[in-house]
Amino acid sequence: MKKEALYYKKNEDGSVQCLLCPHNCRINNSKAGVCRIRKNTDGTLYTLNYGEVTSIALDPIEKKPLYHFYPGTVVLSAGTFGCNFKCEFCQNWEISQGTPPSQFITPENLVETAIREDSFAIAYTYSEPMVWFEYVLESAKLAREKGLKNILVTNGYINQEPLMELIPVIDAMNIDLKGIKNEFYKEHPRGSIDPVLETIKTSFKKGVHVEVTNLIIPGDNDTKEELEELVDFIVSVSKDIPVHFSRYFPHYKMDKDPTPESTMFMAKEIGDKKLSYVYLGNIWSDHGSDTLCPKCGNISISRKGYMIDTKNLNKGICKKCGFKLNIIT
Ligand code: SF4
Repeated sequence: MKKEALYYKKNEDGSVQCLLCPHNCRINNSKAGVCRIRKNTDGTLYTLNYGEVTSIALDPIEKKPLYHFYPGTVVLSAGTFGCNFKCEFCQNWEISQGTPPSQFITPENLVETAIREDSFAIAYTYSEPMVWFEYVLESAKLAREKGLKNILVTNGYINQEPLMELIPVIDAMNIDLKGIKNEFYKEHPRGSIDPVLETIKTSFKKGVHVEVTNLIIPGDNDTKEELEELVDFIVSVSKDIPVHFSRYFPHYKMDKDPTPESTMFMAKEIGDKKLSYVYLGNIWSDHGSDTLCPKCGNISISRKGYMIDTKNLNKGICKKCGFKLNIIT
């Protein structure tokens, strides 16, 4: 459904400037911005994906991935089309860069569905929820009123003003930090890194439960120095932020070989030196999937695929030594 967008200004020449994300697109009449789903029609900016749901499912929360937020639960997950990034390695390119069929679901219906399916939260995911802003904001407010929690799985590419409007109704985020170099952000997603770092810092400071994912791509963002710099940035925010290093496999326009397992293990070793919780994803190994208590080393949560065992944890506290882990249950 077409709906007037929030966060834009009208120019005298009939163009508009979208102020939602750091692209700050100046958009002429009848044209759309970089994300393809914000269009100027006669001097008014419309969002084209309001309520248009391309994917909806009950997913394990670990699939987001969120390992420290109500582990072992399932969550109603919904996504739309459009994205403000252009990654050649996108794993959901059919919806982020294409326009597949969608069904219109009002915020009220989305919240009713979550309640009916006994989901404790709604996750806005699959493509980029920040460019679904108006719908996510309305749905999240309504969900909060009904006692549900809200989760964003996001690239973090949003301006601070709209982010600050959204944060009060968001409980948890997995933010994709695609690399630590601005050159990587310019070449691949075609954005810039600083706004993403700001989103991580602001969201954490404002009390959102934050986890970070980094997809390691051979030859692009996989050097020891880059991984160390990325880890140092996370530590500067909090060493207790869970970090998920994810193994790249060929997707969309990128066909280079998958990331060697040895690189994944190197990332884990680098992370483990300074961070409390480091995980490996997309890898056929039990190494890097369990949560160990940072104090006594006991396995607090064991994970075998989506089989989650939390019996060594009591409300986020290690049963063996009594240490309070950064886990919300
Ligand atoms: S949300 Fe879309 S139209 Fe707005 S600035 Fe970002 S890419 Fe451009």
